[in-house]
Amino acid sequence: MSFKLEISVFVFLVFLTVSIGLGCNKSQLKNIPIIEDVVDQNYICARYEINLSEYTSDNHFKFKVQPIVFGGASINISTVQTLLNKDFKGANISFDIKKPQVVSFIPDEIYYTEYLEDYYEPQQITILVFPKGISLKEERRGTIQGAALGIPEISNPAKGKPIVFMREEVVHTRITSHEIAHSFGIYHTFTPDPNSPILGKSCITGDLVSTTMVPIEGAGVGNKTCDYYLPESFKDTLTQTQIESIVTNIASYSPPQCMEGFDKGQFERMRKIIEINPRIQDAMIR
Ligand SMILES: [Zn+2]
Repeated sequence: MSFKLEISVFVFLVFLTVSIGLGCNKSQLKNIPIIEDVVDQNYICARYEINLSEYTSDNHFKFKVQPIVFGGASINISTVQTLLNKDFKGANISFDIKKPQVVSFIPDEIYYTEYLEDYYEPQQITILVFPKGISLKEERRGTIQGAALGIPEISNPAKGKPIVFMREEVVHTRITSHEIAHSFGIYHTFTPDPNSPILGKSCITGDLVSTTMVPIEGAGVGNKTCDYYLPESFKDTLTQTQIESIVTNIASYSPPQCMEGFDKGQFERMRKIIEINPRIQDAMIR
């Protein structure tokens, strides 16, 4: 049974049902240069505050995406491509999803981290699609709906590889955009930000994006209504626009039907990761 079904209204527990996608890349780095001068040139703040307009016009990047479907799972590549292209349009990124490769057998219970490491291939973004009902040995509480193999840092672009897994049950939802965004350096909006716990207006703390709102601790999003339920002490502290930006951000753990898009700062960060990350550049169609 899906853990999600046991949740009534408050889905801050969705925190338990969607992947984290962090810290999975423990393997030794091979043939991928760590760009030392990224730190030297202080990209983290000085160069990070870039204006997206510098990167528009013909500076459009298209990426090859290779799905691999396991155990009879299926993916509608046209649906996923349309959704991804819509969600990443603000970063001037699009995707070309190739015909799925098929692996007919997969055990009923697996370590997904092993699959992410084993199926990583350069020169593409890979989406592994696991069949309905599969059990993941990493699951302690709740269901992990999808995950990315690490998140590349601006200070260390070699961290993270562009491969994600998705459960077949959610591959046609914005959880796929959420996981792919991790491969472009996007952290969760609820990543702790000790210097600025509410607004996250900093490029060096929290999710490293200066424009995203950090969700209120203890708050939750209605699974059916997408309403934001705040603890008493935070009542009336946020404007409706601020609430919407928290609830609808794809890098949150809102239910996928409540997610609507990324924000400007996140698009800038994706562009910066493309500029400095050899693994992502490698997946580009030139
Ligand atoms: Zn995530």
